[in-house]
Amino acid sequence: MTLNGKVALITGGGSGIGRATVHRFARAGAKVAVADIDRASAQDVVAEVDAGGHAGAATAVEVDVSDFSQVEAAVQRTVDVFGRLDVIFNNAGIAGGKALLDHDPAVDYEPMIRVDQHGVYYGILAAARQFVRQQTPGVIVSTSSIYGEQAAELAFTYSAAKAAVISFTRSAAYELAQYGIRCVAITPGRVGTPIINQFSDELRSTFAAEQLRNKLTEPEEIADVVTFLASEESRVINGTVVHVDDGYSVFKQRLG
Ligand code: NAD
Repeated sequence: MTLNGKVALITGGGSGIGRATVHRFARAGAKVAVADIDRASAQDVVAEVDAGGHAGAATAVEVDVSDFSQVEAAVQRTVDVFGRLDVIFNNAGIAGGKALLDHDPAVDYEPMIRVDQHGVYYGILAAARQFVRQQTPGVIVSTSSIYGEQAAELAFTYSAAKAAVISFTRSAAYELAQYGIRCVAITPGRVGTPIINQFSDELRSTFAAEQLRNKLTEPEEIADVVTFLASEESRVINGTVVHVDDGYSVFKQRLG
């Protein structure tokens, strides 16, 4: 798999799955804009890429994906620095949740929808417009979740936003294929990132046991798949969901 000569924008690139994907893309030959609301973490990842033998392959971009003008500016910044855009990985997200009857919509619904749902829509729209302006093909990979396809306990808002990511991907693929733009959603299961690592050892073990290898997935393992999806080798994968959940969905169905 090569991404030689490709330019990518990765949101949530300062941590977890995004950070691992920045490194994997750089190793595959891509130039990468590391976009994150946390400017310091994005800059740290750029420094890691530089120190890892790929000096100049990454640049930090501060962005709040819940603001369309900032997402457009991040795309423009990527083009200003690296000359073009070929891939966007809409990956930034926040997690959490509480019992539905305890919800305050202003706290438990709206902020998460703004980041996890609007943020992906903004990324798809801004990137697609750039691909069409360039008159080049492009790839849009967006991070959903196993929760985007199932009823989820204490994750009412999160699972709704992640379901929207899958829906956006299907419709965008259909509409954008005429421009050579491909759209894919991934559904991670339980990945060892700060979102999961904040929990107790006991809960982390329960999460691990929900996957067929009985361990948390490494962010680097997701990054390998995203690299494949961004590459030409996956050109027949379009408008669909790629389950990167170590069998979680199958296992859960088996348990009933
Ligand atoms: P993470 O917390 O390590 O990384 C998320 C990154 O997104 C952080 O760097 C954070 O600063 C950034 N971010 C948050 N809000 C932002 C905003 N408004 N604008 C720009 N950047 C913002 O978590 P992760 O586990 O790597 O999560 C990446 C994606 O994977 C998320 O969409 C998450 O929902 C999804 N996911 C994770 C798991 C898991 O088990 N870790 C499972 C399924 C899906």
